[in-house]
Amino acid sequence: MRGRFSAFWRRRRLARHALADADWDAVCARLPLVAGLDAATLARLRETATLFLAAKTVAPAAGFTLDQRQRIEIAIGAALPVLELGLGAYRWFHGVIVYPDAFLAPREEFDEAGVVHTGHEEVAGESWDAGPMLLSWRDVEDSREIEDGYHVVIHECAHKLDLGDGDMNGVPDLGGSGISGAEWQAVMSAAWEAMQDEEDACGDLPIDDYALHSPEEFFAVLSEHFFTVPAYLEQTLPEAFALLARFYRFDPRRGV
Ligand SMILES: [Zn+2]
Repeated sequence: MRGRFSAFWRRRRLARHALADADWDAVCARLPLVAGLDAATLARLRETATLFLAAKTVAPAAGFTLDQRQRIEIAIGAALPVLELGLGAYRWFHGVIVYPDAFLAPREEFDEAGVVHTGHEEVAGESWDAGPMLLSWRDVEDSREIEDGYHVVIHECAHKLDLGDGDMNGVPDLGGSGISGAEWQAVMSAAWEAMQDEEDACGDLPIDDYALHSPEEFFAVLSEHFFTVPAYLEQTLPEAFALLARFYRFDPRRGV
């Protein structure tokens, strides 16, 4: 019975918050990210993006303004990673705050004497453990050209998924994926070491080198590459690509 009722509420929500065709089409036209998706996947993406905007507040900050098409563009980036996982995977946050450009995020650091120092760091996006997602609109725009594997919305959404098991540690909630914690650690550690070796040998990385900042950034950066340059990630780190395909239950290779 639950399924019948939730299907009813889902349809009602979709109808009440329906996106205008003109807005949806205009946003999709500027996003190579969705260009190769088949019609059925695109329809599910539209539903998920609609429900995302119905459930989350997407609000501007710092004197910025946002129109519906900008909100839809953010919602598409957020919807793609959870097409199969469902929006319940984002239950840890309720809002997205959008700055016009890179913004200053507060930072606290302890020095060797244990004294706390407060400061700020300029960032393109930020996901606090129990708080909203913060985004720079300029970086959302910079994410349109996906060839370089950069996508700030997918990156921050991966951090939110990482929190699914209660900890931001590079391991998302693996429930239902058939992947054990041990398997996840083994594949991701091997990929990390391969990239570390590459950096030691060449001084350069075939992926965004921010990945090696920490295990959580490794998962977030690999997730960006997974959805934006899937064939390249598969070629570079095939086991990590296969693991992410099982986790996201999605094959992002466009036109395959
Ligand atoms: Zn990050």
